[in-house]
Amino acid sequence: CGIVGYIGTQDTKEILLKGLEKLEYRGYDSAGIAVQNEEGVHVFKEKGRIADLREVVASDVSAQTGIGHTRWATHGAPSRHNAHPHQSTSGRFTLVHNGVIENYSILKREYLADVTFESDTDTEVIVQLVDKFSKEGLSTEEAFRATLKLVKGSYALALIDAENEETIFVAKNKSPLLVGVGDTFNVVASDAMAMIQVTDQFLELMDKEMVIVTRNEVTIQSLEGEIRTREPYTAELDASDIEKGTYP
Ligand code: GLU
Repeated sequence: CGIVGYIGTQDTKEILLKGLEKLEYRGYDSAGIAVQNEEGVHVFKEKGRIADLREVVASDVSAQTGIGHTRWATHGAPSRHNAHPHQSTSGRFTLVHNGVIENYSILKREYLADVTFESDTDTEVIVQLVDKFSKEGLSTEEAFRATLKLVKGSYALALIDAENEETIFVAKNKSPLLVGVGDTFNVVASDAMAMIQVTDQFLELMDKEMVIVTRNEVTIQSLEGEIRTREPYTAELDASDIEKGTYP
C-alpha cells in the first residue's frame, strides 16, 4: 500500500500512475487516483492492479494537481467502492490514506451520527470530519488540523479541496511519508522511489506533522501550528536500477 501526490505544471495522471506502479511492491488489492482541474475533482478507482486502474482513467481529463493510492484493505473488503480516494458526502473533500484509524467507530458515533457513509473503511471518517468542521466555519487547514487532533492510529494522508486547486494537505503518523521538492512542482510519496523520476530532493516528515503543499512551497507544521523548517536531502536511488526492478 502507498500514497502519491503531485502539484505542479505537468499533467498529473501519468506521474501518479507511474508512482503507484513503483509502490506495487508494498502490496495492494485496489488502487485509485483523484485529479483536480478548473472543472473540479475527478476520481478514478478500480479493484486489482494498476494496469486495471489505467483502463478506467479518462485520457481526456488533464489536471496539474492529483493524489493516488494503492490499498491493502484493513477495514472493508477489497472492492471498487472501498478503494481510495474517498470523498465527503458533499463532494468537496477527497482523501487518500494508508494506515489504520483505531477510534473510527467512536468518532463516527460521536461526531458523524447523521452522515450516510459510502464505504466500509475506517478512512472515510477522516474526510467526513474535515467536511463537518469546514461546514461549521473552519478553513480547510483548520478543519484538517481539528480532525488530526481527534484521530488515533497510523496514517499517511493526502487531502484535496474542490474549492482550492492550489493546495494538497498532507499529514503523517506512524506510516511512511515524504515530500519531494521540485522547481515548479512538489510531490508526496510513501517512498522516494515512487517519485524519483521527477525529483531526488526529499523532505523527511516526523510523526504528527501536517504539511501544506503548493506548487512553489512546502510548509511543515506541528499539530499546534508551530512552523518547522527543514532542508531536503538527496535520495540516493539509481533510477535505472529501479526501472529494472532491482531496487532495493
Ligand atoms: N485502513 C484503510 C483501508 O482499509 C487503508 C488501508 C491501506 O493502508 O491501504 O481502506
